[in-house]
Amino acid sequence: MKATFSSLTYCHDGFERVFEPLTAEQIQRALSSALSKIVTFQSETFDILFHDCQYILSIAEIVDLFHVDLKEQYASGNVSLIGYLGDACVFLFKTTQTNKEFINFYNAKYADFDRLSQVTGLGYATTRFHWQSKFCSRCQQKLEFQSTSQTYMRCKPCNLEFYPPIQPAIIALVYFRDEILVYHRRENIFTHISGFLEPVETAIQATYRELNEELGLQKHQIQSVEPMSETQPWPSRYCSLMMPFKVELKEKLEFKPTKEVSESKWISKQLFLEAANRSDKGEKVEWIVPSIKTVARFMMEKFFE
Ligand SMILES: [Zn+2]
Repeated sequence: MKATFSSLTYCHDGFERVFEPLTAEQIQRALSSALSKIVTFQSETFDILFHDCQYILSIAEIVDLFHVDLKEQYASGNVSLIGYLGDACVFLFKTTQTNKEFINFYNAKYADFDRLSQVTGLGYATTRFHWQSKFCSRCQQKLEFQSTSQTYMRCKPCNLEFYPPIQPAIIALVYFRDEILVYHRRENIFTHISGFLEPVETAIQATYRELNEELGLQKHQIQSVEPMSETQPWPSRYCSLMMPFKVELKEKLEFKPTKEVSESKWISKQLFLEAANRSDKGEKVEWIVPSIKTVARFMMEKFFE
């Protein structure tokens, strides 16, 4: 697979903060304020991504144009901060993904078996953290970035470190015998119940609470709640960590729509395989299950294997 270097910047609207193409001076400033390390891939391309436009320069062109020593710019296999444009930080990372694949982070996939996506996700999460964390919340001094291999910011006077917040969330596969219950999430996707933990709540308590809030399920209707093995970082807006659970019901209940769930359905292995097939082909006509590599889909596959 061909590797590319990509940079990205984040704002609350996504990637459309800078509406002008970057000038050579801006790129040079970003590159020359770099803090990082090692490794250049001479034959690879360098992508700068802004406002749906993509500028591709070869490494040789970059060196030529900006007189930078790229050996000092790249951390192998990692994300590195190469500088700031306004208040947006610009990261550089090595990936074999195309821009098209990681442009929509909501649909991006992050799992243990997909390390490349994790690098992309780290770039996204760190960029967002920098965007929202400018000053010490104690003394209001400007925070200092530490190093390209660390994600934290530091306030020198207070000797305090600030790390990107991670929000734990549960995701619950509800089943009875050989069928699982999925509910309508968005567009045509049917998936599991999920939700963020509240302070001082255990993951299992959160699972019971979410099942009650979203499906109206009572504790006495539930046979068991068991953790499943795979967790999944999900560096979308809230940078969550998904913790999966398997929830067995005492009987096959039919659910009426609630305030949070408009439609739900029980699915067998056969129905799951058909929906998974439609999902993988990108078909839009009927209902589908979450895309491959999401933890939600992983849970379904594990259940039906
Ligand atoms: Zn401080």
